[in-house]
Amino acid sequence: MNKILIVEDEFSISNFMKTVLEGDGYTVEVATCAAQARAALEKMEFSAMLLDLGLPDADGLELLRELRQRYGLPVIVVSARTEESEKVAALDSGADDYITKPFNTNLLISRCNNLVNSRILLQEKFSKQPQAFVQML
Ligand code: CA
Repeated sequence: MNKILIVEDEFSISNFMKTVLEGDGYTVEVATCAAQARAALEKMEFSAMLLDLGLPDADGLELLRELRQRYGLPVIVVSARTEESEKVAALDSGADDYITKPFNTNLLISRCNNLVNSRILLQEKFSKQPQAFVQML
């Protein structure tokens, strides 16, 4: 079961994203601030995280760098900031993808599926490698 963590302080947005993703078969947890996000990440494993950069208790980019480094999970930034420089800054800070608000629901699902599937492929590839190595000997 693929689990997604939504980090978003506006209930209407997090609730909307949760409904959309659950409709596509994901299990969804919501954190409304940086502290809750850290607590959720300590408690369980997620396939990906949707991160709002405008949180009440953290600088978005700093939090992105911290969580990416500590937990190594794929991150899609969901932000109202539409400038190219903002997107570049987020990607430079470790975001795997960037969605601007307001977003299209199909786009949200496609981006999540891509990210989660590419991670699964990568994991399969790495888990098969030792065997490939043995066969070579
Ligand atoms: Ca916000």
